[in-house]
Amino acid sequence: MSEMSVEARDWLHAADDDVLACRGAGRHGFDKLRRNRPMTNTHTMPVLGSRNGVVMIVQTCPDCRMVERTMVTAPRGSIDLPAKWRYRVDPRYRSPKGSGVTGRMALAETVRRMDEDGTIAKMSAAASARQPTGAGDGGDDMGSPRAASQAQGGTPVSGVVPGVTFKTP
Ligand SMILES: [Zn+2]
Repeated sequence: MSEMSVEARDWLHAADDDVLACRGAGRHGFDKLRRNRPMTNTHTMPVLGSRNGVVMIVQTCPDCRMVERTMVTAPRGSIDLPAKWRYRVDPRYRSPKGSGVTGRMALAETVRRMDEDGTIAKMSAAASARQPTGAGDGGDDMGSPRAASQAQGGTPVSGVVPGVTFKTP
């Protein structure tokens, strides 16, 4: 963090939560295209003067709502490979040129805010409430093959993984 530029620090502190979320994740939450599914953040627009099912597919990121991408289909709805999405980005999504803002910095700022406003504390309390045995002393046992096997009513797994034996309690 010591190498963070002043521009980066200022931009991160002023950035919208939703912008940081997308930058921190390294991707936008565009709809995946699937037939017969309602897609609230995807629509099509007719392409002026075109026929035969040529449309422009328009998608907006539901998370930051600052990035839109479009693609024009070929006749009869096919995609003219290697067609690419064209992106339109709200200037507020962009950090200043040369400021060196990275996705990790955005993620770090998000976590810092979550800590500051008590979001992390709330999440931890909720997790503890779900685990009566208490977190950190074997409460995460459901992730082990033995626990999974017992949860399904099976017998304890032994020797499934070469060199690893799961002891019964
Ligand atoms: Zn986004």
